[in-house]
Amino acid sequence: MSAIQPEAALVGASTNGTQVPHDVEDLVRSDDPEHPANLICELCRDFYSVKLFVEADSFSELGWVTGTGGGISIRHGDHVYLAPSGVQKERIHPSHIFVLPFAQTAVPKPGSKRDFLRIPTRNGLKESACTPLFWNAFTMRDAKACIHTHSQHAVMLTLLHPAKDGQATFRISHQEMIKGIRLGGTGKTLAYHDTLEIPIIENTADEEDLTDGMAEAMRRYPDAPAVLVRRHGVYVWGGSWEQAKTQAECLDYLFEIAVKMRLAGMELVGGDA
Ligand SMILES: [Zn+2]
Repeated sequence: MSAIQPEAALVGASTNGTQVPHDVEDLVRSDDPEHPANLICELCRDFYSVKLFVEADSFSELGWVTGTGGGISIRHGDHVYLAPSGVQKERIHPSHIFVLPFAQTAVPKPGSKRDFLRIPTRNGLKESACTPLFWNAFTMRDAKACIHTHSQHAVMLTLLHPAKDGQATFRISHQEMIKGIRLGGTGKTLAYHDTLEIPIIENTADEEDLTDGMAEAMRRYPDAPAVLVRRHGVYVWGGSWEQAKTQAECLDYLFEIAVKMRLAGMELVGGDA
């Protein structure tokens, strides 16, 4: 497959038998707030700075995608919508969104030759460096959305779980918020007494080099709804963007309380106070 150049993308394209509108700009242009191109912009703004009411006069910010890190990709039908890489996540506009066909013959690595349905015409925009990691969730779990955050709760949790024999796993049970998590991220929901397990992989210098480690962890932990990356963050997916968002929120809550419990010397599994 060959990449479609931006000039070509403006006049329409047809690849992989995927349905493409005559004007490919229509792939990212819609008044529907739930259109993936609009949703990605809104969700990135929320994940950047949504205000969570804490007390009468204090707020805390999510801070999941600050410093241009983190993001979300949505798969809708046979299209995958991606935010650009290295941009201010709270300022993304639908016209900045990349659109790729799904599926493809190989995991699409940033910069590799492949088909795009739509490339932003603004100079210098590159698709998210997380693209091959999002692809793992789409191909291995049939996910419809994947969220990547640099949440401090996730990072701190990985620091409290050193690897043993080259492997590390976060486990927790007896928490109400576990009931918001789905087996494998897209299956049935967990019960209060179930033990949630999430693998922790080691970070790499370049984000895309996490691809194989994430895939291997997903094979070893078929029931895990996410993969944690040490000193980096977490990848979370779901059968819809709503499920992915719900699980990202529930997991972040569990990461935060797990850190507090560990620092208080409490066990995370078993329900003993
Ligand atoms: Zn990252």
